[in-house]
Amino acid sequence: MTTGCLLQAAAVDLRLDLSTPLMYVKGVGPARAAMLEAKGLATVEDLLTYAPFRYEDRSNVKPIGELAPGEMATVLAEVRSAKVSGFRRRNLGLFEASFKDAAGGTLLGKWFHGAYLADVFTPGLHVALFGKVEWDSYSGGLVMMHPEYEILTGEEEGDASIHTGRVVPVYEAAGKVTTRLLRNLLHRILGSIDALEDHLPRHILDQLKLPDRWTAIRALHFPPADSDLRLLNAFRSPAQYRLIFEEFFWLECGLELKRAKARLYPGIAFELSSRVRERILEMLPFKPTGAQKRVLKEIADAMARPHPMYRLLQGDVGSGKTLVAAEAAIVAIENGYQVAVLAPTEILATQHYLYFKKLFQKLDYVIILLTGSNTAREKAQLRKLVGHGLAKVVVGTHALLEPDVEFHKLGLAIVDEQHRFGVEQRQKLMEKGSHPDVLVMTATPIPRTLALTVYGDLDVSVIDEMPPGRKPIVTKHVEEARIEQVYSFLRKQIDAGRQAYVVYPVIEESETQAMKAAAKMHDHLSRVVFPDLRVGLLHGKLSPDEKEAAMERFQRGETQILVSTTVIEVGVDVPNATVMLIEQAERFGLAQLHQLRGRVGRGGEQSYCILVTGKLNPAAKERIRTLVDSNDGFYIAEMDMKLRGPGEFFGTRQSGLPALAVGNILRDADILEIARNEAAAFVAHPPQESDLRAAIAYLREHWQRRYGLVLVG
Ligand code: ADP
Ligand code: MG
Repeated sequence: MTTGCLLQAAAVDLRLDLSTPLMYVKGVGPARAAMLEAKGLATVEDLLTYAPFRYEDRSNVKPIGELAPGEMATVLAEVRSAKVSGFRRRNLGLFEASFKDAAGGTLLGKWFHGAYLADVFTPGLHVALFGKVEWDSYSGGLVMMHPEYEILTGEEEGDASIHTGRVVPVYEAAGKVTTRLLRNLLHRILGSIDALEDHLPRHILDQLKLPDRWTAIRALHFPPADSDLRLLNAFRSPAQYRLIFEEFFWLECGLELKRAKARLYPGIAFELSSRVRERILEMLPFKPTGAQKRVLKEIADAMARPHPMYRLLQGDVGSGKTLVAAEAAIVAIENGYQVAVLAPTEILATQHYLYFKKLFQKLDYVIILLTGSNTAREKAQLRKLVGHGLAKVVVGTHALLEPDVEFHKLGLAIVDEQHRFGVEQRQKLMEKGSHPDVLVMTATPIPRTLALTVYGDLDVSVIDEMPPGRKPIVTKHVEEARIEQVYSFLRKQIDAGRQAYVVYPVIEESETQAMKAAAKMHDHLSRVVFPDLRVGLLHGKLSPDEKEAAMERFQRGETQILVSTTVIEVGVDVPNATVMLIEQAERFGLAQLHQLRGRVGRGGEQSYCILVTGKLNPAAKERIRTLVDSNDGFYIAEMDMKLRGPGEFFGTRQSGLPALAVGNILRDADILEIARNEAAAFVAHPPQESDLRAAIAYLREHWQRRYGLVLVG
């Protein structure tokens, strides 16, 4: 306690700089410093870039006596009395407080469901109220309904002009450090700090007409008198724009440098001989789309370079990514290398295995499947095939990553579904070869710039075109009560020679529970609803052989309906299946539903996706509506990000999604795009070598840790 006081006392005279810990700022102290730290605010610089989430126009401060009904105003007054009518305990009451200002004017404030305020507005309290003034016919006086308020009494009062009479920032509180206290702190810090240096390259500032950093930081917290409130609240004031741009610019410079460095590692230079081309043509079951051709060229060119490829292959479900991956595999194999195909689940691994086996039938490649379900003896045998280089394509789950799986000559790793595959696992796989090329496939496509930012070390190829002849899938939402109608629709489709999936949700990753639900429904459907049809069952608890058998029976049309858990989410490919019936669809996420839907619509017939739900909460309603409205994976991924937030969407831990201070990759996607282009141009062609060196030094000192970037040289 005593030391704290001494430090605080000393702090009064301390000159602040950007790296000063907040604890030494007057008015902070250890307890508040801890609360700020918990929000990621440790230094003066952190606080300077702590952006308000909203601004309020409090410029119109008036005595109550001069107010007119209809105007928006700020009033400084004291609480005279307050009361709650209605149910206080359930917070249902109407809370009414009467206020009086220094000139004697009186005003009522009313809040519905405001019973909790009785503990806040005690008589004698000084407050500022902001809101619309109205005429109250009950009391025959002026009233504000649900005004914003700020308590003025207490140790942190500060200068009233910081908090009223202007456009005022509103911050997210940090523990007990309120928006008001934050405003005071920032006012104090801005007053006792020297102008900040601007590290953004001069030519970019000029070209984009950006305000300098010092001006921008001050305007962020204390917007100038002529500020446009709408721009501020849209995060597009010149100051906000500049700071968001700056943050993205440095991030993108860092990523660009990291990528540039990775491109210099020694790797395999695959030869694109005429033999390779012939083999690819031999394999292709159909004419590739334009997008597939373009993307294959991007991938083949990268593989031909004597450096490792790290590339993300994006495309909507059914856009034909696997075919492109198979082409890339041929490039590696014909150069004498092996290919690993890594899938997140056993079902998916099995599916890939079957698909690749079919594609490569004519090419006589040995292709094996290695999963956790293999017996020890099988594993030992398979490992030998891998170790001696006889197996050209090795498909598997995480089991592939175990240390005892040694490749003879691994040249290309194909990884399915970035989202479920950690960076570490990718690393492990890489270590199994001498810098093999890596191709990551994802069916949750996001805009290119975003992908380059979030998957920082990857290059990106995008398939943005569907194979020809696809009819858009018709998606319907049906409530449980009308399930009989759905069943009769299903029967009609099957009578017409089609097949159908019926999917049950996995709750909390518990495949056992989902399996039980699916098994029960299988029983119900096969005995009661469709006793005359052949109904199959597929779930994660089956052995690999049973899974393979169940899928092959469906593939061959021997079973007409396949009841399944979400294990079929990715990779299953049966063009004759035209109905995807999803039970309890409200329990699935948006991306997952879109993936499931992508299992149909793969042949020439019209396909349907039927989402069966119970009563929907607003969030689920939004998800279902998004799917009914759109078949576009890019749009759906964007909605998903909006609904769940980028952190949740990407899974912050797995991806390299950086913790941003001012920018928001969704809200500010337009600025991100500009910043990325500027950063790429700057790193490739800096005006002077010394500019780039200065930028690298600045990045290293200020941003490296924050963004998890490691820059060398
Ligand atoms: P993704 O992996 O992107 O979801 P797939 O590679 O599984 O897509 O392809 C979806 C379906 O489209 C498969 O049945 C595949 O054989 C077929 N397909 C892929 N490319 C083409 C093409 N160029 N023309 C016709 N059909 C194609
Ligand atoms: Mg290469």
